Amino acid sequence: MTNADDVIARIHDENIDFVRLQFTDILGIVKNVSIPANQLEKAFEEGIWFDGSSIEGFVRIQESDMRLVPDLDTFAALPWRRDEDGAGVGRFICDVTGTDGEPFEGDPRYVLRRAMDRADEMGYRFNAGPEPEFFIFQRGEDGHATTTTHDAGGYFDMAPKDLAMDIRREIIHTLVDMDFEVEASHHEVARGQHEIDFKYADGLRTADNIATFRNVVRAVAEHNGVHATFMPKPIEAINGSGMHTHLSLFEDGDNAFYDGRAEFDLSETAHAFLAGLLEHAPAISAVTNPTVNSYKRLVPGYEAPIYIAWSDVNRSALVRIPASRTPAGARMELRAPDPSCNPYLALAVMLQAGLDGIERGLEAPAPVRENIYEFDEQKRREYGIETLPANLNEAIDALEEDEVILEALGDHIADKYIQAKRQEWNEYKAYVSDWELDSYLEKY
Ligand code: GLU
Ligand code: MG
Repeated sequence: MTNADDVIARIHDENIDFVRLQFTDILGIVKNVSIPANQLEKAFEEGIWFDGSSIEGFVRIQESDMRLVPDLDTFAALPWRRDEDGAGVGRFICDVTGTDGEPFEGDPRYVLRRAMDRADEMGYRFNAGPEPEFFIFQRGEDGHATTTTHDAGGYFDMAPKDLAMDIRREIIHTLVDMDFEVEASHHEVARGQHEIDFKYADGLRTADNIATFRNVVRAVAEHNGVHATFMPKPIEAINGSGMHTHLSLFEDGDNAFYDGRAEFDLSETAHAFLAGLLEHAPAISAVTNPTVNSYKRLVPGYEAPIYIAWSDVNRSALVRIPASRTPAGARMELRAPDPSCNPYLALAVMLQAGLDGIERGLEAPAPVRENIYEFDEQKRREYGIETLPANLNEAIDALEEDEVILEALGDHIADKYIQAKRQEWNEYKAYVSDWELDSYLEKY
């Protein structure tokens, strides 16, 4: 735990003159209030009041006074905000409370804290490690983002270097400056698509890291005159961007998912957690795959999951057990999440689903070791394999029917979230797309 005097000393040493106090709305969009560094002591003592009424999913006008409480462990200087004279900008990620000082139930970070507390009461520490993918696109002459990738641009480009590779390196340097431990990065399958993996951490830290990561990637791209996007499927007929998430539970410092004597080296706890994930998968999708566009990624042929099954050998299943099954490395990888999700809510629902499996002693079905994409419907029925929701509307239906996941979100967020997502679906439903014009305009 960091103490206030140490952080203030560091802010002084690093010549930080402004500090952003950050939090996220229910959609996972980072918001911030900026204060001069000399106001920090006051902010630590009293918090910073702000009007929450215009934040998506926050409160009604009459109860709009909200307080930001900086989490001292989250201080970081923003490397891309350093002035020429050396003055810098820092940030804290904050918890949100109401006028009574109690945690605000509309704060996504609180939803995750609640889930972590439940794990803690059951004796577990929850760890998660994400694999976020994203595209880098050029901007058009009008400054707006296009879907023209660097790679394609590079083909006609006079520049002798691969700009995207340099940007990726700059992103990684920036992350390292912000104390990330970057483990790997690579160009992904699709043109213009990249993946950067950073080290797993406990759930709360990982959610903070995902929010920070998205900011860093976008800020560095911006600096370089291009646009980075975490939209799951920006271009049809090529791979979309996922955010596979590795999950594990530790109990008294040992990996609770590991049992060297069991089949697949997976403990009973791991099996029950897995069963919980599978049972709640349709409702979880509403959170881990939160946009209309998310479901255009979850189609056959692009390495994204569709079928609710697990496997120790292949990547077509929703949950994969990675090959490294050591006492420290045993974990499961949920392959559905995409990087447009609110990371706090997404990790909270994954964790709560797994804990529900443990609490109820659920049993996971047998793993599927064949390629499920090649099964016909009858074979899928034989194996009892269900599919993920086909679109956002189906996902929200599933969420509304799943008491465990609704409870994981809490009434406040569940209501606001469902309302916002239904509205998004209704707007989309009424929209006439180019596909329809191409298919019908001249035909009928
Ligand atoms: N881009 C793929 C997806 O949408 C994943 C590719 C991979 O890393 O296996 O999930
Ligand atoms: Mg990948």
